[in-house]
Amino acid sequence: MTSTKNNHNEQESNGSDQNQNTKLRLEDADESMCDADAADDITSADYYFDSYSHFGIHEEMLKDIVRTKSYQDVIYKNKYLIKDKIVLDVGAGTGILSLFCAKAGAAHVYAVECSQMADTAKEIVKSNGLSDVITVLKGKIEEIELPVPKVDVIISEWMGYFLVYENMLDTVLYARNKWLVDGGIVLPDKASLYLTAIEDAHYKEDKVEFWNNVYGFDMSCIKRRAITEPLVDTVDGNQIVTDSKLLKTMDISKMASEDASFTAPFQLVAKRNDQIHALVAYFDVSFTMCHKMIGFSTGPKSRATHWKQTVLYLEDVLTICEGEMITGSMSIAPNKKNPRDVDIKLSYSLNGQHCKISRTQLYRMR
Ligand code: SAH
Repeated sequence: MTSTKNNHNEQESNGSDQNQNTKLRLEDADESMCDADAADDITSADYYFDSYSHFGIHEEMLKDIVRTKSYQDVIYKNKYLIKDKIVLDVGAGTGILSLFCAKAGAAHVYAVECSQMADTAKEIVKSNGLSDVITVLKGKIEEIELPVPKVDVIISEWMGYFLVYENMLDTVLYARNKWLVDGGIVLPDKASLYLTAIEDAHYKEDKVEFWNNVYGFDMSCIKRRAITEPLVDTVDGNQIVTDSKLLKTMDISKMASEDASFTAPFQLVAKRNDQIHALVAYFDVSFTMCHKMIGFSTGPKSRATHWKQTVLYLEDVLTICEGEMITGSMSIAPNKKNPRDVDIKLSYSLNGQHCKISRTQLYRMR
């Protein structure tokens, strides 16, 4: 899953004005995301609020080879998981995962999609001669009726930036609780969030310190806000100063919705003398049901995906020596007012030779 969320690369290439216009505000979009009028009547305003109705966002996801090819490999190389099974595709988009499942011999696939793209998915299914195997249902998972009481397989690409942004995981858990047969499988079934630390003086200067002096004026009130918004961008492997630590693994086949809110301790050990400007979060997902385990990582050392990484700038610059350790904890929870936003609380301390710091920072992905 993706969204038109802001990120530094877009700002660099598009200019901030345009970027402001293309950014989907999920709190505004929530209603219209699933309830817009018929495709023919759609205006540019609808597209603004109904990002998944436009093919552009699906193009980005489909062209994310790491993402789409992993799902294809899971299905084509493990046909026994799908063959003769009833499959539910949660958030089908263009229907790509349903098409893979149909080709792998599914008995029937229910492709549920709430945006206008559902109409297009129907057309795609028809033009590929698979209408007898795939039924596209337009509507929210939480509101639709399925013509069958149970399904054998639930497949979904629900992952957002920082894994949990947009909170579509809840939709998958809802579908699992309601329709998955005992012993049925969820694809993917594991997702893990990791943390590392980077040197990022140049970008921090550009994105955060910039506000200290804007054409001679003090706009540092914006700096205080800017630092609370995690940035989605690609981090170069050379920027990494410490090792990486696993924060949390979620078992999609067993977890409860509340398990997506958690506090995880971490210890990051410096691999060289450097300065640290930000912590970076990324995730991986795996399909452990496969004959040979398949998965992919969105980490800075892996092939880039449209999820990039999530950068959390620190108020302090941490001057760290090789072998020294940043200890801390990260708490993650959906925002109470707008559950599609994520609240992050980061506490960190370094008791090093050149730097002694202990601080807590709050962030919000919106
Ligand atoms: N499965 C497609 C699309 C993934 S993006 C692919 O892999 O390319 C996630 C999709 O889920 C979006 O198209 C979005 O509109 C849809 N979606 C999000 N929440 C939903 C819900 N509650 N019910 C139905 N569809 C939902």
